[in-house]
Amino acid sequence: MQTIVLASSNPGKLKEFNQLLAGVGFAVKPQSDYNVSDADETGLSFVENAILKARNACRATGLPALADDSGIEVDALNGRPGIYSARFAGIGASNASNNEQLLRELENVAEQDRTARYQCVLVYMRHAEDPTPIICQGSWEGRILSAPAGDGGFGYDPLFYVPTHKCAAAELSKDEKGKISHRAAALKLLLAQLTQ
Ligand code: IMP
Repeated sequence: MQTIVLASSNPGKLKEFNQLLAGVGFAVKPQSDYNVSDADETGLSFVENAILKARNACRATGLPALADDSGIEVDALNGRPGIYSARFAGIGASNASNNEQLLRELENVAEQDRTARYQCVLVYMRHAEDPTPIICQGSWEGRILSAPAGDGGFGYDPLFYVPTHKCAAAELSKDEKGKISHRAAALKLLLAQLTQ
């Protein structure tokens, strides 16, 4: 088994990556196992931030690393909150206050103009100076509701309407979301690249 460090300490993500990559010979370990501190996310795009995180984990451990960066882009807000999704209503903001901020900013926007998508970028680096990281991007199209619905998922899921399933992302089961999400799409591409 080849050990890969995950540049995140989110247990949900760790499980998801391990389930997918164990079958192709990779054991994914969280960066907390190696006392790696979080990288500063100073990039201006998902790709830049994912590279910063992966490089930080490679540098600290000497092992290959995998990082992801994700968020939601709202067309009526010119792509905001984008890379600032987790801190839309301020640093350390709760999901509820980020969602309230989004509803406020879209108050006068008609339903057909509330198009949005989740984005997920995954970066795999073989070492800290890797000049050709593997970069995979997945997206998930939807619309921002005018009131929250459902209590599953996390983040913006109660406000993210999924046209293919005619419900909010927070109303999908974990399995359903796991099949169609931006993260699932990016993971599928990563798996194909790693097994090439
Ligand atoms: P991170 O890349 O895991 O740090 O996620 C950044 C932020 O994007 C999260 O804090 C959420 O606000 C938002 N986000 C990313 N993926 C999802 C999702 O699947 N559902 C809801 N919100 C998400």
